[in-house]
Amino acid sequence: MPADPLENLRQSYDVVVIGAGLGGLTAANTLARAGHSVLLLEQLHKLGGLATWFRRPGGHVFDVSLHGFPVGMIKSCRRYWSREIADSIVQLKNIRFDNPMFSLTTSVDRDDFTKLLIEKFQIPAETVNEFFDTARGMNFYDDQATTTRQLFERYFPGREDVVRLLMEPITYANGSTLEDPALTYGIVFSNFMSKGVFTFQGGTDRLISLVKKELAANGVDVRALADVEKIHVDRGRVTGVTVNGREVRTRAIVSNANLKSTILNLVGRGHFDRDFADQAEAVRLNNSSAQVYMAMKPGAMIDESCGDLLFSSTAPTFRTDMLLSRDITSRTYSFYYPKTRPQQPQPRCVIVSSTNANYADWAELPEPEYRRSKENLAETTLDAIEKYVPDIRDKLDYIECATPRTFQRYTKHLDGASFGTKFEGLAVSRALPEQIAGLYHAGSVGIIMSGWLGAVNYGVIVANDVDAYLMKGER
Ligand SMILES: Cc1cc2nc3c(=O)[nH]c(=O)nc-3n(C[C@H](O)[C@H](O)[C@H](O)COP(=O)(O)OP(=O)(O)OC[C@H]3O[C@@H](n4cnc5c(N)ncnc54)[C@H](O)[C@@H]3O)c2cc1C
Repeated sequence: MPADPLENLRQSYDVVVIGAGLGGLTAANTLARAGHSVLLLEQLHKLGGLATWFRRPGGHVFDVSLHGFPVGMIKSCRRYWSREIADSIVQLKNIRFDNPMFSLTTSVDRDDFTKLLIEKFQIPAETVNEFFDTARGMNFYDDQATTTRQLFERYFPGREDVVRLLMEPITYANGSTLEDPALTYGIVFSNFMSKGVFTFQGGTDRLISLVKKELAANGVDVRALADVEKIHVDRGRVTGVTVNGREVRTRAIVSNANLKSTILNLVGRGHFDRDFADQAEAVRLNNSSAQVYMAMKPGAMIDESCGDLLFSSTAPTFRTDMLLSRDITSRTYSFYYPKTRPQQPQPRCVIVSSTNANYADWAELPEPEYRRSKENLAETTLDAIEKYVPDIRDKLDYIECATPRTFQRYTKHLDGASFGTKFEGLAVSRALPEQIAGLYHAGSVGIIMSGWLGAVNYGVIVANDVDAYLMKGER
């Protein structure tokens, strides 16, 4: 690690990207490929943002957000990253649901869900097809007033079991609720339904090492441990940033930091129209998460019949608010078998249990109570997973928990938001350059533009906007 992370920094760049999450990384890479000089600044010691991993004694490696994404990642990675990255994306074939209403295994794609809905849930075939076509036909310009609850009511009135099957993976995938606009459900659901759920073979550490190789090949100046404190604006356009107390000049900025902290902290509301600043303040953050990371002893294998992803719940019915409660009744387990990291010298099994969580439930706990709550989360998770992995305590080598406080600490996301902001954040994010010339945001906003695929794609969209802006300035 260099003594000064900003050693040999140039005085100015065409573009400064703040934050090395998937959105920031992709924007930086796309802009560098287009021939611009790009400085990428990341406050943490490593790149990836929420797409991250960590190592623990005993050779254990844990992925934080590598649980599943839609097939579209293959195309996006091939176009905007590399063939090697795209070719490492593989399908998760065994997705399980286990709750008091039903237990089943599925590949989470249209064919399999159609079969399940008709044969197991006894829904008429025409209704199922109509529902899928409606969901797939939704786009951003559609009616934004209909909620997901109303969409389900239209097709499956009174069928809480069906709603659970259709909604649980999506709530997990992006924190959305039944009260969010139906189109945000339709787009994400259809993305998954096209071919199922995919993962990155080799783990997040391998992905980010390949990403770093691409950034270097395209000439991005990458600096970790580089904390941006301020975005400078003069006469309505960006002029530079202050990073680790030092000023760097630039013509364009892409912030991959949380949308609200970009506007309200890094720029400051005084630089925006009052209405816009009010609109930004009113944007709701998405929920946060709590996770339990469990590594088995070397050689202690878990049977692959446990599934790759398991949506497990003891709640009698499906309620999105219950998914956020600290009184956890629903957990999603990701099972990582030795095939996840074939490069590891010894075969390993790891399980990550994830739950959505409210920041407020954890934020103010005094230190001893916070510690006790984490211990309790670990113990209750082990109790719950016994059903699927008998004698797990005997097989366990290492266990650790993350809470909304952890996510906030490592990513600086306000309230540890896992998926950025709610839907209304997208319009605010898109309108930034109309407020301040040269200021852009590419990061999780509004359900559609979140998750691994959404963040990558949004990075590309914004990079194209920035490219057009810079080219205009040069004419
Ligand atoms: C527990 C959990 C599980 C998830 N599981 C999945 C999943 O299975 N599938 C899926 O598709 N998605 C999943 N997600 C969501 C997905 O990981 C994110 O939506 C996506 O990675 C966010 O990318 P981003 O571009 O918005 O940037 P982020 O990952 O939010 O990164 C922002 C970056 O900006 C940096 N930064 C912030 N402020 C500054 C500053 N002032 N100066 C410099 N740097 C700064 C941060 O350190 C960070 O690196 C999960 C998220 C969580 C929390």
